Amino acid sequence: LANHALLTGAGLVPRCPWLGTNWRRLPGPGNAVGLTFDDGPDPHTTPAVLDVLAAFDARATFFCVGQKVERHPGLARRIVAAGHAAENHSHRHRLDFSLLGPRRYECELGTAQQAIEAATGERPRLFRAPAGVRNPFLDRELQRQQLQLVSWTRRGFDTVTRSPQMVLQRLLRGIAPGDILLLHDAAGARASDGRPVVLSVLPQLLAMLRSSGLSTVRLRDHIQVAS
Ligand SMILES: [Zn+2]
Repeated sequence: LANHALLTGAGLVPRCPWLGTNWRRLPGPGNAVGLTFDDGPDPHTTPAVLDVLAAFDARATFFCVGQKVERHPGLARRIVAAGHAAENHSHRHRLDFSLLGPRRYECELGTAQQAIEAATGERPRLFRAPAGVRNPFLDRELQRQQLQLVSWTRRGFDTVTRSPQMVLQRLLRGIAPGDILLLHDAAGARASDGRPVVLSVLPQLLAMLRSSGLSTVRLRDHIQVAS
């Protein structure tokens, strides 16, 4: 019982490594960072994010919600066609994700896999849990679906922070090769100009990364799926 309580507690710490492999940063040498966008695709934000990425010739990973991919398959296709990766962020993004049992995980992961593959022609290889939390039943389903769990090293809190400068500071202060940055291309906070704050942050972020000699890469090209 104590062991179970410990594991359950561990699951509430998003970056906890006790429950099987959870990639928090890119392995190995190099000057790359991973740029990730969660919770889309969204018809108002995702196209603008893609435009900025294209202007900087940057690569990113989009952790997509299966249900939104079903609603906007063309956006998911556009993500992949532009050279980025569409990965799995569950089908419905349930707030009680960490409390689900094995059958619900099968449904949440499996349905999103099908939706994303149907839209893009590519099967997701990586999974990020809603709100980053997890539970021991999740590991078995990740293995079954051949998905690798990924979290992050730095988050901008761009869903709640309206100041682009604050978001930028959280992402950039002390940034180093291998960092994985978390932003959102849906349901973000609005800056004073009324636009999602991520759209003000992104051009500055990419310019700073470039001047620091850091490139942006897709996570799937650097993280191996455990077999
Ligand atoms: Zn999310």
